[in-house]
This record gives sequence, C-alpha cells and structure tokens, in this order.
Amino acid sequence: MQNYICTTCGHQFAESERPPERCPICEDDRQYVNPRGQSWTILDELAREHHNTFMPLEKGLTGIGTQPDFAIGQRALLIQASKGNVLWDCVSLIDKATFEAIEKLGGISSLAISHPHLVGSMVEWSHAFGDAPIYLHADHKPWIQRSDPVIEFWEGEMLELKEGLTLHRCGGHFEGSTVLLWPEGADGRGVLLSGDTMYVTPDRKHISFMYSYPNFIPLSVTAVDRIVGTVRSLQYDRIYGHFTDLEIEANAKRVVQESALRYKQAMGYSS
Ligand SMILES: [Zn+2]
Ligand SMILES: [Zn+2]
Repeated sequence: MQNYICTTCGHQFAESERPPERCPICEDDRQYVNPRGQSWTILDELAREHHNTFMPLEKGLTGIGTQPDFAIGQRALLIQASKGNVLWDCVSLIDKATFEAIEKLGGISSLAISHPHLVGSMVEWSHAFGDAPIYLHADHKPWIQRSDPVIEFWEGEMLELKEGLTLHRCGGHFEGSTVLLWPEGADGRGVLLSGDTMYVTPDRKHISFMYSYPNFIPLSVTAVDRIVGTVRSLQYDRIYGHFTDLEIEANAKRVVQESALRYKQAMGYSS
C-alpha cells in the first residue's frame, strides 16, 4: 500500500495498492492532465531526486520550495508567530533534512491551506510534527483525496487560529479559497499570504485573479468584488504569493484596489 502523489498537481492520495486511475483535481478545468498521461510518484521516489530549500523572507517568515521544481512548483510559507509556528500551504516533499531544518525553526503547531492545488503531502507534514491540525475551508472537502483526523474543515467566512493569525474565505478561484492574515508581519504593519486567490504578478506591482490559471479562464467582476471586499477591512502592508519572488513589498492595500480596478476595466467594466 502506498500514498501515491500526482506528478502534475502534487496532491497526495489515500493509501492504495495500485496508483489511482485518475486525479480529479487535474481533470478539473482549473488544472490539466499531464499530456503524456496521468502519472504518479511516491514520497521515497520523490526524495531521491528532489530536496527542499529554505529562504528567509523577513523576520519570522521562511519560504520552503522543492528543487528541482515539482508539480505546480509552489512554496510553502512558515510563519514563526509569537504564539506558535504556522505552515501556510504545503509542498509534496518532506524528508529528514526538511524535518530537522523546521525543528530548528521551532517546529509546526498548525497548518493552514488556501485551496486544493497547494495541499501537497499535508497529512505527512502534520504527522511529522505531532499531528498538528490542518485548517481547510469546508468547501474544499470534496477535493481532498487523503482524509485524516488531523484535518479540521472550518465553515463560515473567518477563522482565528490559536497562534493569533486569521483565515479569511474569499472565494473566486475556488469557492473556499482562503487567504491568511499575519498581523505581526512586516514589522507589525501586517502581512497577507494570498496563495493564488490574489495572484501576485511578475512585475511585483500588481495582483490579478483567475478562475483557471493554466487554462486562462478569468474570474467574473462580481467574484473579484467579493475578494477585494473580504480583504478591505484587514490591516496589511505586504503580500506574499504562492511562487518564490512574487511579493508586493509595501503599500499592498493600495495595490489591491488599483489592481482590481485595472482588472475590471479590462473586463469591460466602466465607471
Ligand atoms: Zn493531479
Ligand atoms: Zn490554484
């Protein structure tokens, strides 16, 4: 029995004797099936040719990525909050070196995941760190392929974690797409970890929005208004996206407002 991992989206599945026949996440409009056919790996195999890298981003925040790139290629973000460490989003690879590096940073007390594309091997990560709870919006439940008692599906629009961070359901890309607010970040000015609910664009001066990133299906103006409306009352000055180097360093609240207006104008909205 193995927990197979889809090589295109990086999602780890429930134990099975043989690789699953299909990956529902990749068959959805918001992803794609490997053009050479659905393929799978397992953790040991992945660890043979990949390793995780650790990038300090600011005081109390570390980016964790896998090299060479695997599946979607996102980073996880480890927040060292004063009341405990939270891992935001996840990657597929966890190995001894990763465990030891994170132990040195104080371990993990909770995990929070934005949406089904950035799940990786979250259950393995939780088990490695004393069954730390994993917080996922309940709307994501049908997409999660490996259930486990450590997963806590939360409902509603906002959840406060015991570490003092808050999760906010914005919807859009996925109905349960979530962002995380870290009030102590950016020297107390506040940091928003946006996943791809708000995609930090490569110019690092804007964010954008999509229903499907790989297949270029935009979000409606109504959905964008809902996302921007959800984060309007939050206090933050900086945004970290889900890929390395995609960050809005300062004045992020203004960037969000201006980017939303730019997006809506591109969609034909006037006034
Ligand atoms: Zn997949
Ligand atoms: Zn996504």
